[in-house]
Amino acid sequence: MRLSVLPTYQNFTCHSCTHCCRTYIVTVTDEERARLLRQGWAEKLNLPADKLFQRVDVGGGREKWRLGHDASGACVFLAEDGLCRIHAEFGENAKPIECQIYPFTFVQTGNRVRVNLRFACPSVAGNRGKPISEQQRALERLAHRFLADAGKPSPPVLQRGITLTWEQTDAIAQAFIAAITDESLDLTARMLCASQLLEVLRHLPAADRVKDLNRYRERLAEGIKAEGYPRVQPKHGTRVMFRQLVGIYAKKEGSASGWHNFITALSFIAGKGELPQLQPHLPKARFEDLERPIGSLDDESFELLTRFYRVKLSSLAFCGDAHFGYTVIEGLGALLLTYPLILYFARWFAQERETPAERRVGGSLTLPAVSQAVQLIDTAYGYRRALALRAQRKRIELLTQEGALSRLIAWYGL
Ligand code: SF4
Repeated sequence: MRLSVLPTYQNFTCHSCTHCCRTYIVTVTDEERARLLRQGWAEKLNLPADKLFQRVDVGGGREKWRLGHDASGACVFLAEDGLCRIHAEFGENAKPIECQIYPFTFVQTGNRVRVNLRFACPSVAGNRGKPISEQQRALERLAHRFLADAGKPSPPVLQRGITLTWEQTDAIAQAFIAAITDESLDLTARMLCASQLLEVLRHLPAADRVKDLNRYRERLAEGIKAEGYPRVQPKHGTRVMFRQLVGIYAKKEGSASGWHNFITALSFIAGKGELPQLQPHLPKARFEDLERPIGSLDDESFELLTRFYRVKLSSLAFCGDAHFGYTVIEGLGALLLTYPLILYFARWFAQERETPAERRVGGSLTLPAVSQAVQLIDTAYGYRRALALRAQRKRIELLTQEGALSRLIAWYGL
């Protein structure tokens, strides 16, 4: 299994922080479940089988088994010393394959495999550990096992009815990487350039779309440099839909539903007063506080965000089988939309660090808040089943139309 396009600018070594064991929903195959039951975990942990494994809806009317979590939210196999009980007793290969590959995911593109990383992992977000480029052999072995039963990937689709080759899809991704790494622009200007490029991609005649994209990108970048870009508040309808999307990202997977959900949804629609407490690590904040300008991002946040977008684009994990079957255009829109989302959540996380005086003048966002926001977003991005639903796809499509996406990027990016 040949790996291509390793993110050479990315490092990772597991630092055993147990974050994934507390937040990640690990699905297991019937075979893995049977193997774990044979290992006698129900007796060892004195737990009935329905506490060891639970059914989970994986979309499309399908269900799978997942590892159970205890009342504190931790995986039932996580021991008090912070180590995995399965790993400690039976070795690494005895763990479910999803645990073994985390935080990597592998994207099949033709006869090559690309590597994506989950920035939900603090070591990935912090770029800590061994360079990925030095882990090729180990990653190839993992990819081989992970994709052993995977069928042929569906060909990439630009938008309904237009199929692309993997080379064309890669060329499109490269044009967006060029926009996001353009050193002549600040990060928000780069994201604006990428959002305008998405508009070009939507409207160019099919034959010109790929080959002319870089030329358009250069022109768009020149235009942004010459004219600058204002911070104009998005329209009322856009702001409501955006906050509804915030609510989906803010919710913990598998958290309470029903009446509580209804009240939360109303609160995000109204967008006034205190934000609902959806996860314990999200500080108390008021909607109004998260609309203020941020001043500027520090260099470390700039680096983290650039790396995040490079990894997502170069792995092609933003569309197709790797991302709820999104088309390339839908997937690029959803990825660019994470920029205002990240900066919204960064403002939210920053509330616990800022003094009231700093809040009034609008301080600049620093790495701890931005890193927490990136981790929260990438816990859900490409994984939260709600984002695969037709209604959410429609919402994302509307939020990434001409005008709406650019305003969101400038409003929350400045
Ligand atoms: S979140 Fe990352 S660093 Fe922490 S235990 Fe999981 S893989 Fe290791």
